[in-house]
Amino acid sequence: MERITSFQVDHNKIVPGMYVSRIDGDITTFDLRVKKPNAGDYMSHLEMHTTEHMVATFIRNSEIGQNIIYFGPMGCRTGFYLLTRDLPKATVYKILKQILKDIINYSGEVFGASEEECGNYRELDLESAKKICREYLHILENYSGTDADFEYPQ
Ligand SMILES: [Zn+2]
Repeated sequence: MERITSFQVDHNKIVPGMYVSRIDGDITTFDLRVKKPNAGDYMSHLEMHTTEHMVATFIRNSEIGQNIIYFGPMGCRTGFYLLTRDLPKATVYKILKQILKDIINYSGEVFGASEEECGNYRELDLESAKKICREYLHILENYSGTDADFEYPQ
């Protein structure tokens, strides 16, 4: 089997951050890395699942909502993939940061928390998502938002 692109990145060198994983035409796949790979600290299912519901809802309702192709967790529980169409990296970065802040300040029901809308709706907890959003916002605040910021560490 051919080794797929995301396996070709040396995960020993990845630290938490926001990276361009790949570009396919006008689609950019971002690696939103919350946890350092293989370091013993992973998102819990609860944290990852709730963050997925919250970020997906906020980002699809944002000014770049029409350009969002997909947002979802990595199976290894160290981050998320975000696929966007035809957007500057700095714009995605700026709006993502704002969304993290909005989630941290949000009070109310978790979006999509019903049997009709989700495959495991009991496994959702707003505080768990806020914890991850706080952690990831702290990581993103060290970024200047220039293109070089979004390259994987060599
Ligand atoms: Zn769900």
